[in-house]
Amino acid sequence: LNRRLAEFGTTVFAEMSALAARTGSINLGQGFPDADGPEEVREAAVRALRDGRGNQYPPGPGIPELRSAISDHQRLRYGLEWDADTEVLVTAGATEAIAASLLALVEPGDEVIALEPYYDSYAAGIAMAGGARVPVTLRPRDGAYRLDLDELRDAVTDRTRLILLNTPHNPTGTVLSREELAAVAELAVERDLLVVTDEVYEHLVFDGEHVPIATLPGMRERTVTISSAGKTFSFTGWKVGWVTGSRELVAAVRSAKQYLTFVSAGPFQYAVAEALRLPDSYFEEFRTDMRAKRELLADGLEQAGFKVFRPAGTYFITTDIRPLGETDGFAFCRALPERAGVVAIPNAVFYDHKRTGAPYVRFAFCKRTEVLAEATERLRKAF
Ligand code: PMP
Ligand code: GLN
Repeated sequence: LNRRLAEFGTTVFAEMSALAARTGSINLGQGFPDADGPEEVREAAVRALRDGRGNQYPPGPGIPELRSAISDHQRLRYGLEWDADTEVLVTAGATEAIAASLLALVEPGDEVIALEPYYDSYAAGIAMAGGARVPVTLRPRDGAYRLDLDELRDAVTDRTRLILLNTPHNPTGTVLSREELAAVAELAVERDLLVVTDEVYEHLVFDGEHVPIATLPGMRERTVTISSAGKTFSFTGWKVGWVTGSRELVAAVRSAKQYLTFVSAGPFQYAVAEALRLPDSYFEEFRTDMRAKRELLADGLEQAGFKVFRPAGTYFITTDIRPLGETDGFAFCRALPERAGVVAIPNAVFYDHKRTGAPYVRFAFCKRTEVLAEATERLRKAF
């Protein structure tokens, strides 16, 4: 392994899912739903396969049906206008979109600001691009993690190329407010920075609203927006993601994508095009259902003695384990299968400042109600 990637090793999600399988524990670690997405969308994938649509290389930027569905979705939900031919790119999940964006836009030595704790592929993506990551730490304030705008401002240097945002935010569940995003936008304009924004949880906002930063003044031309069907439609195994942005930025990301995967798998694109056109009721029910799961797991964790940061969005709950007399999330998560038959993720993996992240542990609630009930019962008994 070269020096750029040496620090990364195996992703924590693979390690923790393997631990869950080995110990027969309930896996609240890796964020994937334990029930598949809508039947009619699965049927659409089967139809595409059977009818021979997408079984050979689809067009590089994605099939036209999906690009126009993405463009319509952005217009109807957020009032953003993207030309489906030149300003939309289909990728192999959000993960490829993130890596391709960084590879396309970052010069070796450029600084990339990321909100810490950050999703693990950001650090690896920045490293692959030869960039230097500059973490800006979200800090607990009044029961939620918030962005310190002065800290963000201070992190910008002459070498800063872009800010990598994520809202709703994994792992903290924070949804950046319109005011916070406006301040980020103002800074980006003032310092002439690009913003790459990971909005894969755009449909999982329980409190407040999802504001795409691309909608704010001066941002349309300097923002790459990323989303994915994995989260919104509960098909994490399909790996269909996308990028929207100006013609120039999307062309750049497409140049990188061409040599990573060339194109994304065909039949699933037809199915996701149909999924994006599901009626509003689908998106509302998805959110309502997930909100009930949030309450179930958050209440259970509180009863077990954890301090809970009730998330405004995503399907993750960050907890503080110090009320349980614990301080080391890594040790806690390694022992948890034995102690309680549950697997969780130590938030320290999402930090450069490992000590800051040490006492926090993340639980996923995208699981069936009975599974969450059993998990909380086990945790209550164990602590
Ligand atoms: N970004 C965030 C914040 C995520 O939580 C995830 C995880 N699943 C991804 C990106 C990756 O998405 P995909 O599975 O579509 O590659
Ligand atoms: N995004 C999911 C999580 O944060 C899982 C992604 C992965 O396994 N790479 O748990």
